[in-house]
Amino acid sequence: MRILTRIAALSALAAAALLTVPARAAAAGKPDPKLVVVISIDQFSASLFEEYRGSFKGGLGRLAREGVVYPSGYQSHGMTETCPGHSTLLTGKSPNRTGVTSNDFYDTTTGAKVYCMGDPSVVLAHDAAEPGVSPRNLMTSTYGEWLKAVSPKSRVYAVSGKDRGAINMAGHGADGVFWLAAGFGFTTWVEPGQDPKARLAPVAELNAKLRADLAKKPFVWTYDNKRCAAREADYVTGGRAWRAALPLPKAENPADAMRDLVASPWTDRVTLEAAESLREQFGLGDGDAVDVLTVSLSATDFIGHRFGSRGPEMCDHLLRLDDRLETFLKRMEKAKGEVLVVLAADHGGSDFPERLKEEGYAEAGRVPGATWLKGVNAELRQGLGLDFDPLVQAGGINSLYIVGADRKAPAPLERARLAKAALALLAARPEVYEADEINALLTAQPPPKGTSPDEYSVRERQRLSAYPGRSGDILIAFQPGLTAASAGPSYVASHGSPWNYDRRIPIIFWWKGAPARDRVLPIESVDIAPTLAGVTHVTPPTDLDGVCRPLGGAC
Ligand SMILES: [Zn+2]
Repeated sequence: MRILTRIAALSALAAAALLTVPARAAAAGKPDPKLVVVISIDQFSASLFEEYRGSFKGGLGRLAREGVVYPSGYQSHGMTETCPGHSTLLTGKSPNRTGVTSNDFYDTTTGAKVYCMGDPSVVLAHDAAEPGVSPRNLMTSTYGEWLKAVSPKSRVYAVSGKDRGAINMAGHGADGVFWLAAGFGFTTWVEPGQDPKARLAPVAELNAKLRADLAKKPFVWTYDNKRCAAREADYVTGGRAWRAALPLPKAENPADAMRDLVASPWTDRVTLEAAESLREQFGLGDGDAVDVLTVSLSATDFIGHRFGSRGPEMCDHLLRLDDRLETFLKRMEKAKGEVLVVLAADHGGSDFPERLKEEGYAEAGRVPGATWLKGVNAELRQGLGLDFDPLVQAGGINSLYIVGADRKAPAPLERARLAKAALALLAARPEVYEADEINALLTAQPPPKGTSPDEYSVRERQRLSAYPGRSGDILIAFQPGLTAASAGPSYVASHGSPWNYDRRIPIIFWWKGAPARDRVLPIESVDIAPTLAGVTHVTPPTDLDGVCRPLGGAC
């Protein structure tokens, strides 16, 4: 039967060739991969994808032309930061279930700030003095873990420019998780009793090469794509005058030179090199079992924060990335088994408000983080007769924690008094669209089944960012167009809001013979893991938020 089907398919293919119908269309079918490559481009919003889609001629172009493209994927939650966004990609769950709700938490029982991936029981392989990170705070399992449970021979490797980009996608029990440490190369964590050298062995050769390359010829970012120069212009942000143009002014010291290097296409180039090296070293996709390689590309985010998303820098970076991804895809295709590539993003983003204003977006503006919070605290101190600041932030001002004079959680009655006053004050502020109290979010009902993620109310979005003991006591949605941060010398733009420019991302599934079509209705980033489970015959946990999206066949 199968032989007959194959013969029928072959004759159809021959007929298609005679009729000069592209062979790809005839070969369309369900993917059957031995290598699953999941790429997250950090801060790659759906609008960036749309803006450049027609210009992508390399790897991004191939994925967009030949793959199953969902131009409206959603990171459905409200606090659209890097750590929570990455935590949704391969767990099938929103941040209120992964426990990774923001990049930083404030522990009101100790009064300490906690990094989302922070783990004091481990150290970093390249420097034992650096604070440790691990998947300990990720409160759920990933696709790689489900796969390994039924296929012990499967390998899971992860690379990124950022620790949180690698760790969240790999999950627990992966074979190798590596990210860039400035000035060193790729690193990982070391548990007590483990040998740092052995942990770094898979990247040791690459690290030596990267350091030698930089010593021999430092990376200078000049235009690869001359047409991007048309976007050059002068701006003033945060009182600083600067020109959006390449190359950048020469760095004044080694620290600034490193900062410039990290926020450049170099970061993605070496991250892709690390991924290629891991595939080739370990023969990922060459055997009988399905292997997983996750790649989180951080440069788009670094560049977006530093220069904004609509300037010559982002233009040249994305076109270079498109080009570099073609080399990457070709190297992945050397695997003996079929390759399935998924492309997504941890969140979207928008441009810096000063340029948006010039383009006619009158609503664009800034809420100056720390200064703003100081003002809110001053009003509360006065109104309530306090001699301490009752609100603190861990990362951004969109998540505020209520504290007493000792900067820890106050007693329940006092907490209720402070929360009531803070919520009333915030509701009256014109820059605040909505302020939600954590207990109201934790007890809120989810939207009716089948509600599209673009139709979620702000409260429904924030509900997906609420996790007891980690999220702030008050989650704030600022008015659309407002950037909740001041501009600094190397920081002009941000993300993290519940608005769709920060939530909407492209999601693409590509394999050889994919049916090449756009599916325009919204799906969610939490659908990726159950879809991969469906394709690779892995039974996912039954309590997922996401659903399997059929790729050329039933799930
Ligand atoms: Zn970011």
